Amino acid sequence: MKFEELGLLPELLKAVAEAGYTEPTPIQAQAIPVVLEGKDVMGGAQTGTGKTAGFVLPLLQRLARHASTSPSPARHPVRALILTPTRELAMQVHESVQTYGKYVPLRDLVVYGGVDIKPQTEALRKGVEIVVATPGRLLDHVEQKSVSFNFVEVLVLDEADRMLDMGFIPDIKRILAMLPKERQSLLFSATFSEEIKRLADSMLRQPVLIEVARRNALTDTVTHRIHPVAQDDKRALLAHLLKRGDLSQVLVFVGTKFGASRLAHYLERQGIDATAIHGDKSQQQRTEALEAFKSGKVRVLVATDVAARGLDIDDLPHVINYELPHVPEDYVHRIGRTGRAGRSGDATSLVCAEERGKLAEIEKLIKRPIEQVTIEGFEPDSEFHGAAEKGRRGRGGRKEEPRREKESSRREPREKRERPERREPRRVEPAQPKLPKLDFDPSQPYEPKVSAGGTAAAEPKRSSHRPKRPVPALLGGLPKTEPETGK
Ligand code: AMP
Repeated sequence: MKFEELGLLPELLKAVAEAGYTEPTPIQAQAIPVVLEGKDVMGGAQTGTGKTAGFVLPLLQRLARHASTSPSPARHPVRALILTPTRELAMQVHESVQTYGKYVPLRDLVVYGGVDIKPQTEALRKGVEIVVATPGRLLDHVEQKSVSFNFVEVLVLDEADRMLDMGFIPDIKRILAMLPKERQSLLFSATFSEEIKRLADSMLRQPVLIEVARRNALTDTVTHRIHPVAQDDKRALLAHLLKRGDLSQVLVFVGTKFGASRLAHYLERQGIDATAIHGDKSQQQRTEALEAFKSGKVRVLVATDVAARGLDIDDLPHVINYELPHVPEDYVHRIGRTGRAGRSGDATSLVCAEERGKLAEIEKLIKRPIEQVTIEGFEPDSEFHGAAEKGRRGRGGRKEEPRREKESSRREPREKRERPERREPRRVEPAQPKLPKLDFDPSQPYEPKVSAGGTAAAEPKRSSHRPKRPVPALLGGLPKTEPETGK
């Protein structure tokens, strides 16, 4: 499939070609024609699938007829509203609007909190057709009466599940209530909980469901590996891995804000260029840290899950989990920052004995065992393998208690967590390991594969836009979500 076959304006095709894209990603191939037809969309897609261009391109095309060179604010009312959960995602989506809309003379603006409101107010007063915003700051503008929604034709809700996690749903509902009833609405979410379905039901009309590969299917382009290590040796092992020199840009995940800052300082003391990004930093500091990382000035970015949400860093080859996340889904989100759009990447996790339960849950979720490589000089506590043994034996196993309590053991009995026959053999690696060869060709266009486990990673090889499964089934029987054929 070529972009030219999607019915896009020459101005958009030119911008896409300049961005270097040769073929639409699956979500783009499916969403663009549907959005161009003016239909509502419920998109099951995560950051990294190319979904932004999937909605921004047709949105620009729909609004192109309003492009005006008139300086009068009345000629530039807000016509499209794109809501995102985080400032970083808002900035990235705005960047996409500017990239793809380069040759379409519409005005655009990004609006988020944590920065001076005045310049945003001035820009809104002058008139702007496309507004990318985080909900809280947008509502501040509503209260100030610096924005009106009377002419909104298109609403996009990006990462709806994150909006829910971050407590934005009441704000979203307030905004929805202010929009014209006659409009096109698009909702994107990586997961569809009951609450998201209810939200979708209240804001979408006969949506076409578009689903693309889940992140755990995309990880076919990512090499996963864990290094078992003692808790107290983690820092030194991380420094050792980073000093080896074969890792260029590395995103390191930690569990807490405090931990992020501490680890970044430690790395700096070890002579490694590192910076931390987390929720307690000001917007300015976060933007600077991200820019320094993106431009290559800083090699290592230490981040918490919240701060890293929606980060779009092109060509990020390495992710290191300094700590495993509390919820296994976050592993999948973290890894989503690498191996994007068909590129290769590797995800390394430093796992101590206490984290064995979390590891088992992650392996269950991604439906594959992760290769374990012990680095010489950084061997784990004997409990690391002991804990696995105990897991295999179940409750009737050895009496010996692990030194520290495992958090995840509360969620699931141990015997369910471990399937010894699935585990790959452990090996001890010398200080200079070679990365395993990738079975993927980076010169090939983006094409997510179905994972070995045959997960929900439904491949979108469909001739029409009819969802593979009937929408009501997927949405848990929503009455209003009967799909259109897309024809
Ligand atoms: P998104 O999921 O929208 O955050 O996009 C993820 C990454 O894929 C971004 O860095 C985009 O620049 C890139 N991308 C989007 N569409 C394409 C395409 N058709 N071909 C190659 N890369 C793309």
